[in-house]
Amino acid sequence: MFLKNLDNKGAISICQEYDKNMNIMVEGQRVFQVEKLLNDRDISFEVTVTDVTAPASPKRNRSPIALTRLRSPIKRLIDWKDYYPLNVINSFIDSLEKQYPSTCTVSVIGRTVEGRDIKVLKISNSDARNTAVWLDGAIHAREWISTSVVTYIADYIARNFDTLPPSFTNKDWYLAPVVNPDGYHYSHVGDRMWRKNRARFGNVVTGVDLNRNFGHCWGRAGCAECSSGDPNHINYRGTEAFSEPETAAVKDLILYSGTPFKIFLTFHAYSEVISFPWCYTADPCPDYVNLLEGGTVMAKAIYETNGRMYKVGNFKDIMYYACGTSIDWSYGTARIPFSYLVELRSKRDRFLLPKDEIQDCCREALNGVKALVEFVDTKKCSNCDIFPKKS
Ligand SMILES: [Zn+2]
Repeated sequence: MFLKNLDNKGAISICQEYDKNMNIMVEGQRVFQVEKLLNDRDISFEVTVTDVTAPASPKRNRSPIALTRLRSPIKRLIDWKDYYPLNVINSFIDSLEKQYPSTCTVSVIGRTVEGRDIKVLKISNSDARNTAVWLDGAIHAREWISTSVVTYIADYIARNFDTLPPSFTNKDWYLAPVVNPDGYHYSHVGDRMWRKNRARFGNVVTGVDLNRNFGHCWGRAGCAECSSGDPNHINYRGTEAFSEPETAAVKDLILYSGTPFKIFLTFHAYSEVISFPWCYTADPCPDYVNLLEGGTVMAKAIYETNGRMYKVGNFKDIMYYACGTSIDWSYGTARIPFSYLVELRSKRDRFLLPKDEIQDCCREALNGVKALVEFVDTKKCSNCDIFPKKS
């Protein structure tokens, strides 16, 4: 559309259009301007002819050049040296599906309050014996590094699938880089510190804290401080459990996917902590020892990557009380035995992790996940006995 507008205005000439590619010609004097416009909109291109001599283009007598719009080469889209807007993240997972169609599938699991798609990338060899892993980012809009980590892990698994060990290939990977697309978008274009979704209360967008809207011990008495009933509170829990389309979409995917989930990992920022259920009570959960061991295995792998020390423990002990969190629901209701909330970097910079730390943070998180999937394959868990039976 954008290119067609430029063409209508005479700034460029569209010569050819096929699939999602386009050949365009640009007059020499406008080349830098057009390149900048394309770059600003993340439209990939390459210069195919640098000096088209005049015959086919009478208007162009100043050495026009030809540009070809490319089908989103991945390297060009994301290099984990920056944070990216929602459309680039979505294009990135779509590009993995295009590049690795036998293992990667993108689906829309729901639509947000404002009508945006909630996209999930599934990576799998389609073996019916697989168990499933869930990874999500940006349930809290401003925690951008969580999206970087989920896309980094997706890229690693998709690209290397054929050579990965069974601890990876015996699983169906469900990766949701942005669970809260409205909030994430708003944190890019409106308020960088926005946390909640973009739900309205009356005529005002107050938002719901999606990590207080899940249905395990939702809204319990005694949780009021960190799971508030006040729409203006940063931790507003919503009108009822799963009142928000974003949390309902996660719930439905997990309950109805047909594959038993064994691991649930939700990435946040910024405390450098690996936490597990419960959040709503200080009591230890039935798999406390296993979860502590799995968390420690992750923390050790993270430490060995970059020397970063992540604390491990149950959420209530190392963070605070919270009701209606996704890990309490995934563990307590969906019976996913290895449910973790990982708080990524950084304690120093809080939500504004410098760009030059993104890759290090992604690498350590990937190594943590690698260690966890190996560990989980060696473990039985008490909660598994009541695992939902799925046909
Ligand atoms: Zn968070």
